[in-house]
Amino acid sequence: MSDALFRRIEARRDDLIALTQDLIRIPTRNPPGENYREICDFLAARLAPHGFAAELIRAEGAPGDSDAHPRWNVVARREGKAPGPCVHFNGHVDVVTVGEGWTRDPFGGEVEGDRIYGRGACDMKGGLASAIVAAEAFVEEHPDFAGAIEISGTADEESGGWGGVAHLSREGWFDPERVDHVIIPEPLGKDRICLGHRGGWWAEIETTGRIAHGSMPFLGDCAIRHMGAVLQAFETDLFPALAARRTDMPVIPDGARAPTLNINAIHGGEAERAAGDTSLPAHNVPDSCRIQIDRRVLLEEGVDAAAAEITALLEGLKSRRDGFDYRLRELNRVVPSMTAEDAPVVTTIRAAIAETLGAEAAFVASPGSYDQKHIDRIGALRNCIAYGPGVLELAHQPDEWIGITDMLDASRVMGRALERLLLP
Ligand SMILES: [Zn+2]
Repeated sequence: MSDALFRRIEARRDDLIALTQDLIRIPTRNPPGENYREICDFLAARLAPHGFAAELIRAEGAPGDSDAHPRWNVVARREGKAPGPCVHFNGHVDVVTVGEGWTRDPFGGEVEGDRIYGRGACDMKGGLASAIVAAEAFVEEHPDFAGAIEISGTADEESGGWGGVAHLSREGWFDPERVDHVIIPEPLGKDRICLGHRGGWWAEIETTGRIAHGSMPFLGDCAIRHMGAVLQAFETDLFPALAARRTDMPVIPDGARAPTLNINAIHGGEAERAAGDTSLPAHNVPDSCRIQIDRRVLLEEGVDAAAAEITALLEGLKSRRDGFDYRLRELNRVVPSMTAEDAPVVTTIRAAIAETLGAEAAFVASPGSYDQKHIDRIGALRNCIAYGPGVLELAHQPDEWIGITDMLDASRVMGRALERLLLP
């Protein structure tokens, strides 16, 4: 191992900035999932002179995939001089909507001081650029390395990853037979290793009733009152039970060490009036009320148990409460994922952080989820982490930015990790 690699990375400071700007300037908003082909072509062209052979893969038939907005992904692979392990860096190329409150051009890539601004700067084009620069510098410094390096740019992470990493996993790209170590440079911070994430269960609960004239509600059965009973049971039984549990996963922030439940939406009775509609309400007892819930799940719980707990609560109401009936519909589920602290990719990045930054790496886990779920569940590859530069709280915010020094530091850590994994 050599400090020559670090010098090569530092000499690429301007290139790293320009690459990050170039990526930001390709607007890849999702929805609708635009310019995926453009950014994949850009990444393939960028990596080709460094000996990477790129393949473009369209997730045909994935949610959102259409001829207007095809879900393109790119996987670029650089073979070493001898057989050895494959290290894969995966970055999602999509960014969320711009939103209000920007004082900078969201797709301009403006540089001021140590910061590059733009939608996706932090989440996660800056991290992807850092990995690319680390890999290119490593290949130049150690052309005789053993094994292979892969860099992928993937679609749709912000909308569940079905047109991106899930598709690649199904097609065998993350098969442990061909990939050994996966590093996802999401913005968790340059001295933290993200081992995984909580799971999630999304469902719609509908309470039903019977329509009647609003002046004689006793002739009907109010679905909204039944939903009130559900919400009351959440308050008295479910929320206290959730708050009393704690995970051993190192989830940040601390409040997310307990399982959580968010009620996303409630709809019942008459439809809401459009703006400007001055008509008066009709007099009806509502026969339907629906809520959507977002239950985040700990590794120790599992998704099935979380769903069963809600079902049991609803069944309890059905047995106790006159006229109570419900429908429960699962909308989506994500399994919790956590890589072991002694997995090879974890110990390698940990040692690289210590050598490069002189810091003891902190282990964290994400309260939400990211593409690790697909690599774990579909790909059956359990040696995967998120490690990358950036301040997580800036993700999806106006005036999102990435620190240039942080990117260089993370790039050095990733370069050092490649030395540890791929030098004979
Ligand atoms: Zn992200």
